[in-house]
Amino acid sequence: MRRALFFFLKLAIVIAVAVWLVERPGSVAIEWGGYLVETSTGVLILLVGLLVVLAALGYRLWHGVLRAPGRMRQKRHAARREKGYRALTQGMVAVAAGDAEAAQRYARRADILLHEPPLTMLLSAQAAQLNGDQEAARRYFEAMLKRPETEFLGLRGLLNQSLRTDDPARALALAHRARALKPKTPWVLHTCMDLEIRQGRWGDALRTLDDAVRARVIDPERGRRLRASMLVERSRAAEGKGDLRAAAEFVHTATQLLPDFVPAVVREASLLDRAGKRKAAVKLIERGWEREPHPDLVRLYNALGPADEDALARVKRLERLNSLRPDHPDGLTALAEAELAAQLWGSARTHLLKVEAVRPSRRVYQLLADLEQSEHGDSAAARTWLAKASSADPEPAWTCTDCGAAAEIWTGLCGNCGSFGTLSWRVPHGTIRLSPVPRPVTLPARADPAAQDRQFPVAPAAGGATAS
Ligand SMILES: [Zn+2]
Repeated sequence: MRRALFFFLKLAIVIAVAVWLVERPGSVAIEWGGYLVETSTGVLILLVGLLVVLAALGYRLWHGVLRAPGRMRQKRHAARREKGYRALTQGMVAVAAGDAEAAQRYARRADILLHEPPLTMLLSAQAAQLNGDQEAARRYFEAMLKRPETEFLGLRGLLNQSLRTDDPARALALAHRARALKPKTPWVLHTCMDLEIRQGRWGDALRTLDDAVRARVIDPERGRRLRASMLVERSRAAEGKGDLRAAAEFVHTATQLLPDFVPAVVREASLLDRAGKRKAAVKLIERGWEREPHPDLVRLYNALGPADEDALARVKRLERLNSLRPDHPDGLTALAEAELAAQLWGSARTHLLKVEAVRPSRRVYQLLADLEQSEHGDSAAARTWLAKASSADPEPAWTCTDCGAAAEIWTGLCGNCGSFGTLSWRVPHGTIRLSPVPRPVTLPARADPAAQDRQFPVAPAAGGATAS
């Protein structure tokens, strides 16, 4: 639009000048070197104009010829870079697709075309890894450490390598170096904490946890639970080294931080008892029980009774514990067990039926079967309860929220998948219960209660397909 406007403007000026010249005729005579040239003024001006235009064109042509080689070089260079970046992109796509051979080919190509090691080293390292050449990958990662712009990526590569080859000491050193570069990066903090936990460096792990909570990588509530779990493990480690005082201090911090954290309460109470403070230990369990009744607490509570405690005295003690949290299924179950031992059949039955109404479980049905057998020798009634036991929920256990594995005793690290702080007290669905046969099998009434309690059906009939 603007170009067209300019063109018309120029045309108008030329026409105006031409008209002006035609309107003012005149002649010019030039005598030079024995020649005489006579012409009109208009023609002369036209000739001069033509000369100026020709000179301008000639100058531009000359200038273009002079600059041509540089431009060609620039063009070639740009084309090369273009190709290099394309090779780099294709190489990254090949890495993502797991095509080892193509990745290596493109990596080499990008390296030759680009001459930019920071860009191509990572691709080369990844291509080497895909080809299973860990040694070459390590060389690339180590070369990356020498440049500030690639140091962090190189550290990550080396760290992953040492995690895979199970070299935790080297992995931790690399993780610390990465943390010095980028102290708030979530994966760096998680990796540091993970490695410190695995190596039992509880003091370091607790400090890393602090940093992670401060950097908002871990939310404060989860941070508190992790902190309590670490303190319990730190206490366990101190006890292992014979330092009972430190052990007691660490676990005390944990119970202060999270008073309803059963593993901490149990540990502190048993350490208090070992230190000769049984009264304080009992008091601590009772306070813990008020907040969060738990079978582990009542087990220790039972163990902390007087050495000469008879069955009736134990019933009395458990009644006291139950009064702190009336009608809690765990308390009633423990009380009923004590009543069975004291042959207080009536109250044992009342308490067990109360539990069955709110939280039926295998344990309760087994105790009811015991009661029938012990009180009246009634095997038929016992079998009825046991049949119910076989289809009831198993007892809760310390179950890993990550992998579902169940454990009897709480530990910070899951014994199955190695996650930390994932064990919670709940019914372990899907791990204990097995379904070994595709078709339903009805269980015949059997005298052997243990056989019925198991979830396995009887062996398939002769000629039947075996369970897979
Ligand atoms: Zn697990």
